[in-house]
Amino acid sequence: MLIVVTGPSGSGKSTILRHVMRDLRGVRFSVSHTTRPRRPSEQDGRDYHFVAKGEFERMVRRSAFVEWAIVHGNYYGTSKREIAEKGKAGDVILDIDVQGAKQVQALGIAAVFVFIMPPVFRELKRRLKERGEDKPDVIERRLRTARREITQASHFDYVVINDKLDRAVLELESIILATRCRLAVRRDQVRTIQRSFE
Ligand code: ADP
Ligand code: 5GP
Repeated sequence: MLIVVTGPSGSGKSTILRHVMRDLRGVRFSVSHTTRPRRPSEQDGRDYHFVAKGEFERMVRRSAFVEWAIVHGNYYGTSKREIAEKGKAGDVILDIDVQGAKQVQALGIAAVFVFIMPPVFRELKRRLKERGEDKPDVIERRLRTARREITQASHFDYVVINDKLDRAVLELESIILATRCRLAVRRDQVRTIQRSFE
């Protein structure tokens, strides 16, 4: 199953997902392509595939992306290849912005959509400042975008409110585990068990 995790920048998507990837087996992270410069803490191929603008645009022309968007002035996209490769081994998690999540929704493919919310605006501001990764003007831009994005929460299947981190991690893990228990997902396994009773 595809698990699409979205929400404003600073809402805690990457932090929560780091924990989920450690705790749960059978989930793989979809590594996006981006034209954003690499942060010192990031690794090419692990956090993102860092590419030049020209290369990204060539990939767009070749229809290499499931979805892509310009987020805070940079290109970001999920490649079809990434989903196909990672999907072979189980669930695939996408950490993408709200525009991208809506594009995936419009495709009508089987996926679960989770919106991560900070508990209150001023806490989002505090976390973005504290993260210390972005200059003040970039933070202002992200906060402006967040005001727009937060209104979109009602379009998604689940909402995780990231107040206490351990609670938020548990909630996302519960969503993933519950998704795996859906009859539509388990149908083959159910049939096999039923046949063993014949
Ligand atoms: P996103 O990936 O959505 O942009 P991050 O995961 O980078 O957000 O989180 C933004 C900042 O907030 C980081 O510095 C992170 O350590 C911090 N953070 C995330 N969740 C919490 C939380 N529940 N309580 C306090 N700080 C948090
Ligand atoms: P950051 O630059 O902080 O890593 O990410 C900025 C935003 O881009 C985040 O909201 C993140 O979810 C989003 N993002 C990351 N990868 C993708 C992607 O492949 N597609 C889209 N649409 N957004 C992405």
